[in-house]
Amino acid sequence: CGIIGILGKDPVAGQLVDSLKRLEYRGYDSAGIATLEHGVLTRRRAEGKLKNLEALLVHEPLSGTIGIGHTRWATHGAPTEVNAHPHASGGVAVVHNGIIENFRELRLELEAKGRTFSTQTDSETVAHLVAQGMSEGLSPVDAVGKALPRLRGAFALAFVFEGNEDLLIGARKGSPLAVGYGDGEMYLGSDAIALAPFTSSVSYLEEGDWAILDRKSVEIRNEAGEKVHRAIIQSSASA
Ligand code: GLU
Repeated sequence: CGIIGILGKDPVAGQLVDSLKRLEYRGYDSAGIATLEHGVLTRRRAEGKLKNLEALLVHEPLSGTIGIGHTRWATHGAPTEVNAHPHASGGVAVVHNGIIENFRELRLELEAKGRTFSTQTDSETVAHLVAQGMSEGLSPVDAVGKALPRLRGAFALAFVFEGNEDLLIGARKGSPLAVGYGDGEMYLGSDAIALAPFTSSVSYLEEGDWAILDRKSVEIRNEAGEKVHRAIIQSSASA
């Protein structure tokens, strides 16, 4: 129900959780984050309140400087730790807000190609769809670009990729997503409130947009894959 993504200079786990707290007002039943620990995708997820995730992180801290986070309001699959986001497959981790309406047919197609699912969610399908593209030789950017047109329904998405410490991808269709511009740091968030502690410079993705972020630049493409310009505005959300 809430999304955050950070390409940072310092370890981001604490910032991810702080930002998720600012999205608590939307309601949620579980939460999770993923970071790259020396290039390796590592997740921490917990049922219930964010304090459960925080307690887990005390015992099993994460030190990565790139990561994504999520508060989930379950629509498909019970609100368990296994079904909590981020979902991961084949070097891709994703957080998703919304509903992938055609997930059953996509899942059958991907299972027929040998992919094994571990949750009951609609969202896990997105991780597998992108991972399948990468396993067929596509780059992360091209795999996302090929996957997005196949998704029916409403979504905001944020992706990170194993072995790639300087790449964060976001996409929006039917659920809001903002890009935040920092100084050598970049952000994705469900709204400017989530990003306010880090930056007030934001641009809102439009329907069908997706954004490719590294620490120095942001490229936004529309649904047709064309590069587009989205104004950077100064948000008045208070930090
Ligand atoms: N449909 C997804 C799920 O049930 C995402 C729900 C949400 O927006 O939090 O896992």
